[in-house]
Amino acid sequence: MVDLEFWGDLAQKAFVNGFPSTNWANRMVEPWKGLPFGPNLHAVRPQRLRTLTGPVEAPQDSLWSRLQFFAAAEPVRHTEDQLDSALFAKLPIDVRLLIYEEVLGNMVFHLEARNNGTQIVKEICCRPDLIDEPIHQCHISNPRKSPSFSGNGNQHSSSLLPLLLTCRRVYSEVIPILYGTNVFEFRQGKGAFYFLRLMLPPQRLANIRHFRLHMRLPHHPHINSRSRRDWETMLMFFTTEMPALNKLYLRLLTNYITETQITETDDVDGAEWTKPIMRMVVDVQRNRRCHVKFVTPGVSGGVAHDCIGIFKETAKTTGLSPQERLIELASIALHERIRVSIEGPT
Ligand SMILES: [Zn+2]
Repeated sequence: MVDLEFWGDLAQKAFVNGFPSTNWANRMVEPWKGLPFGPNLHAVRPQRLRTLTGPVEAPQDSLWSRLQFFAAAEPVRHTEDQLDSALFAKLPIDVRLLIYEEVLGNMVFHLEARNNGTQIVKEICCRPDLIDEPIHQCHISNPRKSPSFSGNGNQHSSSLLPLLLTCRRVYSEVIPILYGTNVFEFRQGKGAFYFLRLMLPPQRLANIRHFRLHMRLPHHPHINSRSRRDWETMLMFFTTEMPALNKLYLRLLTNYITETQITETDDVDGAEWTKPIMRMVVDVQRNRRCHVKFVTPGVSGGVAHDCIGIFKETAKTTGLSPQERLIELASIALHERIRVSIEGPT
């Protein structure tokens, strides 16, 4: 097994203690202490959502901030029946829901954190059919300059906010559709958990059914205690905090250091970091039929691992039934597949 302790807690302490300037040494080791998304994942969720600031005619990319503002008022604002409106008086709810879904559902949102991670902006995918391609470039380069999108019916993206602002009853009917029928995709773990944990109110987090995350690992997820904590909490988050999640795409992006640490770890020891993945995939599949696509680096840009298939195969070949032992053996098999996919053909 590769000596992860070289990068671990004791090595960090020794490094910091060995320098006259403790502050400088602490700054040097800080990136190694945990995973990039850790601070957002473990931050205390705000009790009161911050209110909307800025002009009323805020740009298109402020959508999430405005929704955050509206959500803060949801439990206290009274919703009028609006029965003088033909929309509510003449159309039944199931027809209205179909209309709402047609207008602002079934899209893929590429989301990104800006302004030092405190603002989430979106681009709407023009090629959702190519979403699994290793290099996926589909959208216009600068959505701030052009809030209108072209291609594949995405022209309705610019109508997201006006429909939501029609009236409070429309808002309350539409908002679960917005979160429940669209795909939310992040290419940064840090921004993703700012959005999921600190920006979205719990009732909206509970609406999301399809989430995609491309996660960069600057080092091995079990390199030290804080990284291990971040890694395991992140996987548990999908199990416990997103009850409607029905499809999860999780892609790991690694550098040379991480890949070396993974491939030089034997599979039995390596199962310590694949076990939380296996446990999460089995739990969400059993509890709510959530399908997880887990991708690691490999030939042609990435290798998707069939975790449920590995789990079932392990159960079949060993004849074991205790869940924990099965998870452990399946995690060893998963580590082997990840290691081999990174090493490539010999
Ligand atoms: Zn796209």
